[in-house]
Amino acid sequence: MSFVVAPQTVDEAIAFLAANPDARPMAGGASLVAMKNARLIEASHFVSLARIEALRGIGPSAAGGLRIGGMMHHRQIAECADLTGGWQMLRQAAGLIANRVVRNMGTIGGAIANADPAADYLPVLACAGAEVELVGPDGLRRLAVADYLVDWYETALEPGEIVTAIELPAGGDGPSVYRKLARTPGDYATVSVACAREGAGPDSSVRVAVGACGPAPIRDRDAEAALAGRLHDPAAIAAFCATLAEQADPIDDVRGSAAYRLKLIPRMVAAAIRDVTGDR
Ligand SMILES: Cc1cc2nc3c(=O)[nH]c(=O)nc-3n(C[C@H](O)[C@H](O)[C@H](O)COP(=O)(O)OP(=O)(O)OC[C@H]3O[C@@H](n4cnc5c(N)ncnc54)[C@H](O)[C@@H]3O)c2cc1C
Repeated sequence: MSFVVAPQTVDEAIAFLAANPDARPMAGGASLVAMKNARLIEASHFVSLARIEALRGIGPSAAGGLRIGGMMHHRQIAECADLTGGWQMLRQAAGLIANRVVRNMGTIGGAIANADPAADYLPVLACAGAEVELVGPDGLRRLAVADYLVDWYETALEPGEIVTAIELPAGGDGPSVYRKLARTPGDYATVSVACAREGAGPDSSVRVAVGACGPAPIRDRDAEAALAGRLHDPAAIAAFCATLAEQADPIDDVRGSAAYRLKLIPRMVAAAIRDVTGDR
């Protein structure tokens, strides 16, 4: 049997988790309740984060970018009119998660803590160069998404820490796009791609991250630099796509074989680049 406690501040939540090592944070319970019902997890207490006001809100960060509280639900992110230009891809990703019920329950903090390699936010956050803010008994730390995601379903989140916010750097004017290929609407991605354009002139470049094809999103900044100024050159785009596919480490699962995913990557990356350049 598990008990639910509902602290009102981050400090109270951290203190409770520190005093009760078998307790677990609970966001919307979208995954946690199912895991508990399937007896996949045990916990002495569920520490609901739902009443902590500091974990809410979407607004400017101190660094001049965007700060999203860990308890923001997918629906709230999907409906946030401030997410335009370079941040538009985040809004698109949130709107493509699961179904209306899960989007109402699930949170960005819970999704980041869960760190399913096929989760929709991960390539977007890697593409944006986002940071994950963690608070625990030893204080606050911010990690780049690439450092936060350690391996398949493994993150740098320490016991007793919670995801308090996600911070995105200034998004630029965009455009940006999130493409998701799934077996059915609402399923996890078989392959996903986030792409954002930097600049509008002949030297413009793209940032690209591929999801669901390895333990963490694939992003190659050197390849992005090599593609800068050549966004309308089919050969350069083909070489860029091939470079990303070479770095993929997909698995065979019910959503598609590894071979199928490797074939999808170049097509989806090229399509995402066309989305942000307007080429057809
Ligand atoms: C049927 C179904 C379909 C789904 N489809 C998709 C999909 O297509 N794409 C996609 O990206 N996701 C999908 N998801 C995942 C969903 O988007 C939720 O984000 C995810 O389940 C987390 O839910 P939650 O925020 O309610 O966290 P919970 O379920 O409450 O918690 C999940 C885990 O994270 C921990 N946790 C929660 N919040 C925090 C925090 N702030 N700090 C530290 N640890 C925390 C909990 O202890 C638990 O281990 C799906 C989930 C379900 C149930």
